[in-house]
Amino acid sequence: MIATKTKKAPTEGAPVFFIMLRNMLIGLVSTVATTLMGAAAKGDWLIMLVYLRGKDGPDKALPSFLAPSGNGTAEHTVFDQFLESHGMKHLHLFILMGIAGSFIIYYPVGGFWHWYYYVRQRDQAEEWKCQPNKFLSKENEAHAVMLGSFNMVLGGTLSGTIACYIVNGGYSMLYFNLWDYGIVYTVLSTMFVFLLNEWTVYWSHRIMHMPVLYKKIHKWHHRYIQPTAFTASAMHPCEFLLNQCIMAAPMFIFPLHVGSYVGVLLWTYYYGMRDHSGIISESPWPWQQDVMFHDDHHLYFHVNFGMNTKFIDMMYGTVRRKDREYSEDIFYGFGREKAENKAQ
Ligand SMILES: [Zn+2]
Ligand SMILES: [Zn+2]
Repeated sequence: MIATKTKKAPTEGAPVFFIMLRNMLIGLVSTVATTLMGAAAKGDWLIMLVYLRGKDGPDKALPSFLAPSGNGTAEHTVFDQFLESHGMKHLHLFILMGIAGSFIIYYPVGGFWHWYYYVRQRDQAEEWKCQPNKFLSKENEAHAVMLGSFNMVLGGTLSGTIACYIVNGGYSMLYFNLWDYGIVYTVLSTMFVFLLNEWTVYWSHRIMHMPVLYKKIHKWHHRYIQPTAFTASAMHPCEFLLNQCIMAAPMFIFPLHVGSYVGVLLWTYYYGMRDHSGIISESPWPWQQDVMFHDDHHLYFHVNFGMNTKFIDMMYGTVRRKDREYSEDIFYGFGREKAENKAQ
């Protein structure tokens, strides 16, 4: 799945080239699988699919086995006509595909990771796990799967509805042709939407850590002190939908190339899954934090609010500091002076 600090000896006698090739292939497959799982968890993979296939309308956006019967045939029911007259042709099929696709991708990929690390390498946890001495309880593991599954139904429904609306000619500001706004605008708007998304996520997350909202809503996600990939989508359903809306908003607000939007979504989903995996991994990108950053958020609670970069936390002084203490009862992101420091 993810590059770890496992200290196993390289395969003796095997040419270096083949070892490098094998590691590259493992890295590639794990990156693709992680991204797919992340996209499946949020249901937005359907929006991506629609943008890759759906320029020609709702009939073309659906796979052939779900392909609708034509107008005027016996199968074209009153229900179909109702949806079509409201600009939501095949809504139920889009929702069905959104939910089914999420489950089909999410569980095999997540299940494989779970087996590969949490079952197969459980005895060597100090080599790969962020919190090597603690594992999520069986009860919380089951809770994360149940809650995450419920949220995937919500996510699949929401993204299926948005996808259906857009392929039926509904309003959005996404563009398909790079030359509509030029390369410079496309590059700048991609960077802007990435930063805007980070900024919005940082503040929505930090506000969720205000005492009232934390206790009523966000605590649902923080019951998992040792996060696993399955906990990435396990949160209060209202928070899950809020996050979905934050991610979807830019495509309705300013012109954005479809590739930029899909790229930022994939990036966010990949790192969202990776950051919840509980598996040590350093980021190759200077702005992207290591897995430990969000793992520490679960361990220390009210600190490290950013998801794709620690720079916003650094700017506001909410990065965890080793000379301060943190707990679920110490709110607002700055921790508290350690008792031993006070005594000096
Ligand atoms: Zn949090
Ligand atoms: Zn989390």
